[in-house]
Amino acid sequence: MVKISRRFDELGADGASARLGIMGGTFDPIHIGHLTIAEEMRQALGLDAVLFIPTGAPVFKKDQHVTDAHDRVEMVRLAVSGNPHFDVSTIEADREGDTFTVDTLREMREHYPDNVTFYFMVGSDSAATVGKWRGSKELAQLTHLVVAAGRPGSLQEDELCPIIEAAGPFEYHIVHTSILAVSSTMLRDRLVKGDTCRYLIPERVREYIRDHGLYAGDEAIASSCDQSSEIDPLSKEFYKARKAELKTRVSSKRFKHIMGVADTCEQLAEQYGVDPKKARLAGLLHDWDKGMNDEEARQRAIDLGMEDEIDPYILEVMPNVLHGITAAKALGREYPAIPADVLQAIDRHTTAADDMTPLDMVLYVADAIEPGRVFGRIDELRSLVGEVSLEELYFHTYEYWVFLLLERRKPLHPDTIRIWNANVSQLKRYARRNEKQ
Ligand code: ATP
Repeated sequence: MVKISRRFDELGADGASARLGIMGGTFDPIHIGHLTIAEEMRQALGLDAVLFIPTGAPVFKKDQHVTDAHDRVEMVRLAVSGNPHFDVSTIEADREGDTFTVDTLREMREHYPDNVTFYFMVGSDSAATVGKWRGSKELAQLTHLVVAAGRPGSLQEDELCPIIEAAGPFEYHIVHTSILAVSSTMLRDRLVKGDTCRYLIPERVREYIRDHGLYAGDEAIASSCDQSSEIDPLSKEFYKARKAELKTRVSSKRFKHIMGVADTCEQLAEQYGVDPKKARLAGLLHDWDKGMNDEEARQRAIDLGMEDEIDPYILEVMPNVLHGITAAKALGREYPAIPADVLQAIDRHTTAADDMTPLDMVLYVADAIEPGRVFGRIDELRSLVGEVSLEELYFHTYEYWVFLLLERRKPLHPDTIRIWNANVSQLKRYARRNEKQ
């Protein structure tokens, strides 16, 4: 059973000394400021892990409405899941009554062995109030204090030190983190007004806010999630905006591959009479969800509520093919104007299907033959472009991937065999048709 955190309950259990960062907060909602200071402090102090602990009922915020703890926990979970050093703990959210940091630290001290040292992380605005915290002297025995200096509008380092020293015999560290003039208050305000929060709040959290109707009426949330929802998804403007966003989602190597696929999609589309704008967009967006590991890909499917529609075999054994399926779903929700056939091509680009449309085939082939791919028989496939029909080109590409899977002794999904058989009969039909012409 999880006591403090799913990922880090065993920290220090091997007897080796370990440093655990603790980032408490209301996280209403979590934002780029929280994540940035936590990561920079982790690096600065060589912390092994950082636990984000959303408060239950925060004592300092009694006079204001605070979003339900369950939603705040879920938002933090989504925000931290991509960082292996981060996790969320529900120990405060699960506790009845007021939240006091000293109670949390006591509970954690009981759980973790003495070789785990705690580093309680705060912004300079919170550090300025440390003298008012319940049990601050005891707290100083339980944890080091790490302060992110210079939050706009709060005390400077020379003003903070005497305040902390007066509050208790803390071992404290001031860390100069990137200064971000962002706060949850400001973001709630933007959400209510429908101003964009893109990049300030992680994308998956914005999706959660939209899907759960938090902070504002639906209209305002929809526009804060996507200022460009009214832009034509086949316009240059939309393409440029998504391209910029992709850069923040995937590695530079992956980005290069994606751009290779988008170019190749356009060329193939022109060659085979498919809409080049749609093909280019499908190429650009096909690996939208590719920057995730297996566990994150599964979680992504769950977060999107797709558990029941995805084959359990894929979820368990082949999470690597999930990224096309989840990307199509997430993009369709975020940008409802993206044409359904573009989303379908994205959805099918990893698994294919037995009724592939020309657009589906263009993306499927482009993903294999884009200029950055150098392995195997790719040059043979490239030499077929313009020489054979799109259907044949797709069939050869499919054959190539199946061979590769067999050669590498990878499991084959039963649908792969079904699609193979459908391709074989389809190809025979084309051959007969061509003979007749
Ligand atoms: P609110 O505006 O609702 O008070 P907040 O943005 O300050 O929220 P909290 O969840 O209350 O967020 O903050 C958790 C911790 O993160 C606090 O220690 C706070 O000082 C710190 N923090 C939040 N945002 C920043 C920021 N932009 N720069 C530095 N520290 C920050």
